[in-house]
Amino acid sequence: MRFDLITIFPEFFVGPLDHGILRRARETGLIEVHIQDLRVFTKDRHRSVDDRPFGGGEGMVLKPEPLFDAAEALLGRSLGSAEHPAERDPKTAIVLMSAAGKLFRQETARRFAKLDRIVLVCGRYEGVDERIADYLATEEVSVGDYVLSGGELPAMLVIDAVTRLIPGALGNEASSQNESFSENPSLSADPSFGVAQHAAPLQPQSNLAGAGGSHELRGTNHLLLDFPHYTRPAEFRGWKVPEVLIGGNHAEVANWRRAAALEKTQRNRPDLLLR
Ligand code: SAH
Repeated sequence: MRFDLITIFPEFFVGPLDHGILRRARETGLIEVHIQDLRVFTKDRHRSVDDRPFGGGEGMVLKPEPLFDAAEALLGRSLGSAEHPAERDPKTAIVLMSAAGKLFRQETARRFAKLDRIVLVCGRYEGVDERIADYLATEEVSVGDYVLSGGELPAMLVIDAVTRLIPGALGNEASSQNESFSENPSLSADPSFGVAQHAAPLQPQSNLAGAGGSHELRGTNHLLLDFPHYTRPAEFRGWKVPEVLIGGNHAEVANWRRAAALEKTQRNRPDLLLR
């Protein structure tokens, strides 16, 4: 998988790509990350990448020409014009980072992980000329309902979330099969089992039956949050690890985890259960 970042701050990425899973994925050749300085594709003396907005208003807007030129240079082909629209390569995504984009979710990361190449366009200032969203980008993606000052951090989030889903990226120490936002067929098991008997660390106000809908959840595949994890010591400042996790009964542990994941999802992200 190759990632291309188009940015006016190429130095921004020194650091985030150099640790842990991302570093190893780069070192082993699982991913390649190319950082493209947008200013290389300016033609004027001041190397300007931005201009004032048509219609007036505050701030500056990233111009379309350098962005198209940068993307075309990276991909080695024309991205077309109004008269001659370009063909799209289904294995390449051109992603515009944008607060006004569609939400980036784990399912988006899973879809991206199957591609060969992802070009990430990082906006700045007031944003980017809309013709980038309409004619250059294959998708416009937001990392959450808040406004950041640039697309560099959002692009890093995408690279991180996608890379850890590429087979071989996680090694043996972790698995992306059974974590938050993975589909969890285990809900078809009896959700009332487990938490009730081993409720010690769970919030008293959280009540699987009371939160409504646990019965309707049976047999459906909802996205759940991860179950709670514990490590030694078994007792820390008087707070105990749930007994069932220490007992060594695998079936009971599995049941507790399933119920605890559901309880936590109901408490922190009830919206996931309504989808
Ligand atoms: N005027 C825009 C915000 C511009 S912020 C608006 O109101 O929607 C400048 C740049 O930061 C954007 O072009 C985009 O690339 C990036 N950015 C800001 N928030 C983002 C988010 N939630 N997700 C992805 N990119 C974001």
